Amino acid sequence: MSIQNVMVIGAGQMGSGIAQVCAQAGLTVKLNDMKQEAYERGIGTITKNLSRNVEKGRMTEEEKTAVLGRITPSLDLKDAHDVDIVIEAAVENMAIKHSIFKTLDEVAPKHAILATNTSSLPITEIAAVTNRPEQVIGMHFMNPVPVMKLVEIIRGLATSDEVYKKVEEMTLQLSKTPVEVNDFPGFVANRILMPMINEAIFTLQEGVATKEAIDDIMKLGMNHPMGPLQLADFIGLDTCLYIMEVLHEGFGDSKYRPSPLLRQYVKAGWLGKKTGRGFYDYT
Ligand code: NAD
Repeated sequence: MSIQNVMVIGAGQMGSGIAQVCAQAGLTVKLNDMKQEAYERGIGTITKNLSRNVEKGRMTEEEKTAVLGRITPSLDLKDAHDVDIVIEAAVENMAIKHSIFKTLDEVAPKHAILATNTSSLPITEIAAVTNRPEQVIGMHFMNPVPVMKLVEIIRGLATSDEVYKKVEEMTLQLSKTPVEVNDFPGFVANRILMPMINEAIFTLQEGVATKEAIDDIMKLGMNHPMGPLQLADFIGLDTCLYIMEVLHEGFGDSKYRPSPLLRQYVKAGWLGKKTGRGFYDYT
């Protein structure tokens, strides 16, 4: 059976983007969140993105209306009763993901694939709370979802070839590029990216250079579109810290220890762009 009905869990930065690209690809989407306000914010972002596409001539007003018409709100996980796939993009917290996947396993149809957009949590451990570990898989979209081409597709220990194939096909249908990865801490993207960001924070902490200088060096010298400190602000410093902790614990290697400055910023509530302040000021 091909994938037509999708539920996206979490209407935040990632979930709203995933819902948008699914609806743009002609799929029917239920966008679920715990909070009505979060859904409203998510659908507001999608509407703004689509309106920009219309202004730029990339889409007609009719197409925009059709895309929005394919997205319906959901505040109850039981709404997963008739979907072909669920893509979970709630907060990066194992206890919350376990609780969501346990419920989904009870309410989603037998054939449904349960995917997670986790940045770093083990797919195998999420799958273990379900009775269908062969149908659990990682679909790691990049931020901002409508713009970025890559989806890391992560196979848990038990993920079946058939499920992998279906998710690969769906990713292509979303006009994204799937890349296959095995289930190891941080997968590939964050195992390489986060230690670089963490090292940039150590460099700042040690007074080697100013934040602007560190970002300029990586932009101009390495051709990165954004410096590592600015990128950290965009990702969210809490997410960066969380991923470093997953790498540190997962490998048991001190080279992944999070920078004390990163911890301090997170404790201060300076989480980056989303709170108006991180390494830079966004107010
Ligand atoms: P976010 O904070 O913007 O959004 C999370 C949303 O999930 C919120 O709207 C919240 O209300 C909702 N939520 C929380 N618990 C829920 C539950 N039990 N049921 C339904 N909804 C619930 O977070 P985000 O940046 O969109 O990240 C979401 C996931 O995507 C995380 O696992 C994160 O690691 C991953 N991710 C993030 C990025 C990034 O750059 N931010 C990139 C790739 C993957």
